[in-house]
Amino acid sequence: MIQPEKLQRRGLMFVLSSPSGAGKTTISRRLLERDAQLSISISVTTRKPRAGEVHGKDYFFVSEDQFARMSMENELLEHAKVFDYHYGTPKEFVEAQLAGGRDVLFDIDWQGTRQLAQNARGDLVSIFILPPSMEELERRLTTRAQDSAEVVQKRMSKAEAEISHWVEYDYVLVNRDVEETLGHVVSILQAERLRRQRQPQLAEFVKQLCG
Ligand code: 5GP
Repeated sequence: MIQPEKLQRRGLMFVLSSPSGAGKTTISRRLLERDAQLSISISVTTRKPRAGEVHGKDYFFVSEDQFARMSMENELLEHAKVFDYHYGTPKEFVEAQLAGGRDVLFDIDWQGTRQLAQNARGDLVSIFILPPSMEELERRLTTRAQDSAEVVQKRMSKAEAEISHWVEYDYVLVNRDVEETLGHVVSILQAERLRRQRQPQLAEFVKQLCG
């Protein structure tokens, strides 16, 4: 007998992509604070930590050799080279969360999103966040002040390439205002959780309902 309050749900993979500086990190953080059913996938990267970044919280910072080993041993759900570094998603954590009916948030680029779409389309919900203008994007990257002017310029030139993949996403939001964008992201997540195919026990429940 399935009790209505005990209906289980399959976890979903919730991807937020955007060019660096479009506000994705703030939105991810705010979303995680308010949603207890959601955990973030912490990526591995060969990039060096920025000031204030913590190993195991922002990323797992690894050497090129460690990354190559993880990739070879099939420990990564997806991986890509972004800027000059390797980034990848550890598989074990994500699989355990999904199996337990929990949702996983990913802050990954279009290459990783494409790989997830190829391997697990049914579990994936993807959102692309656009900046309101390229001027605003540059302003945000500069005031973030974590990167040198040279790195900011490099990120600006990569931004257009990243944006060109907007059509591959399920939802596209223009981040004019963080509160407004966060509201849209919350609505999308709530609606996607209710999709019929994410509720595997529904058929049995309905059978029970109607006798
Ligand atoms: P950053 O170096 O600014 O933290 O991240 C640079 C880019 O790498 C961002 O667009 C971010 O979404 C992407 N990224 C971070 N982790 C992963 C990952 O595990 N896989 C992929 N494909 N991209 C990632």
